[in-house]
Amino acid sequence: MRLAGPRSFIQFSIALALGARLAVAATLPMRAASDSDEIALGAALAAKFDSDRGVAATLQSQRIEAYLQRVADSLGKHTKRKLPWKVHYDPHPGIKSGFALPGGHIVIWGGVLSYMSTEDELAAIIAHEIEHTDDGQVNRRIDSLVTTKHRDVRNHSKLTWQEFGATYGVVLEKRCDFEGAKLAVASGYSPLGYKMLLSSYVALAKVHDPSAPPPQAIVDRVTQIEQEIASEHWESLTTTHPLRLPLSG
Ligand SMILES: [Zn+2]
Repeated sequence: MRLAGPRSFIQFSIALALGARLAVAATLPMRAASDSDEIALGAALAAKFDSDRGVAATLQSQRIEAYLQRVADSLGKHTKRKLPWKVHYDPHPGIKSGFALPGGHIVIWGGVLSYMSTEDELAAIIAHEIEHTDDGQVNRRIDSLVTTKHRDVRNHSKLTWQEFGATYGVVLEKRCDFEGAKLAVASGYSPLGYKMLLSSYVALAKVHDPSAPPPQAIVDRVTQIEQEIASEHWESLTTTHPLRLPLSG
């Protein structure tokens, strides 16, 4: 008795292929926001950010923002997602960090710039924020807001920029350093930018509170970039570029 001729084999193969495709589809859930939805949401939240925080463009802040943008542009040539990476500069000196809004929008605060002496450190923080988006973390946060809080990605008034400023947790913050360092190196920067910037946080914590233990999460990130420099054989990439903030002289 002939059980399986060529035709049934082909049908079986097609069924297998369809099954595989369905399995892949099952592991890749639909994103709540298309790229264009995400870009529009990010632009709306950036405008709200400026309004809420009283960020008014001055000639000085515009020139600094344009400089930050040039660094973002050079990093953006090496990202997986092709988004219009756009830096928003808030000159407030009291906040020493940045964060990623949807669609490639990135906020950088003035406080962190005062820690830096090299453009490589600036590339490090911008690359870190780009990675939150390029790695899909921002997408997953949007998905979570849609599914758990029933937000509509096209109803911008129901979403807040603060929801994207919260940390992604130790593991993902380290991942953004790890992948961001690759982005920075691909763009011609030294990975020492990460080590210098993170070490500045550790050093200044000690200056301001000598009796407190060093911030372990940051110390671990310094260790991680040291290990990455060794594993990626980046030891020779020690040449850094001076920070060229406009109007500094
Ligand atoms: Zn981060």
